[in-house]
Amino acid sequence: MTYKKPGLPDKPVKLKVKAGDTVKIITGKDKGHTGIVLTAIPKENKVVVQGLNMMIKHEKDRQARKANSTGANTVIKGGRIEKEAPLNASKVMLVCTACGRPTRVGYAYREGTEKLSRRKYRVCKHSDCGKEIDSPQATV
Ligand SMILES: [Zn+2]
Repeated sequence: MTYKKPGLPDKPVKLKVKAGDTVKIITGKDKGHTGIVLTAIPKENKVVVQGLNMMIKHEKDRQARKANSTGANTVIKGGRIEKEAPLNASKVMLVCTACGRPTRVGYAYREGTEKLSRRKYRVCKHSDCGKEIDSPQATV
């Protein structure tokens, strides 16, 4: 499928935030709040932040598309469902783990003796901080 939603960037943008990061919302109805990124969606340049940008979905009871193992159709309960809506990544700012302030993100390379130990990491852009920003859930 090559269908592209209108208004989306041609190429997936490399997001500066990733799951597990703390971010501050800088615009919109949740302006000023901070939260933890649950999911990053680089394809749409969006992030889902825990407990913020909530939307209420009204859903009907519906049949699950696939029958379960017993062959009977499972019914997914509807109702008012509150869930986080993705918001544009440009509306959030990464909070520096070292100084606790929202910051722009820079990149630096860590030099290593081995070829593969050289890797990119994110740094705080505050001139008086400049420390590496760690993601608590970073696995790489
Ligand atoms: Zn900092």
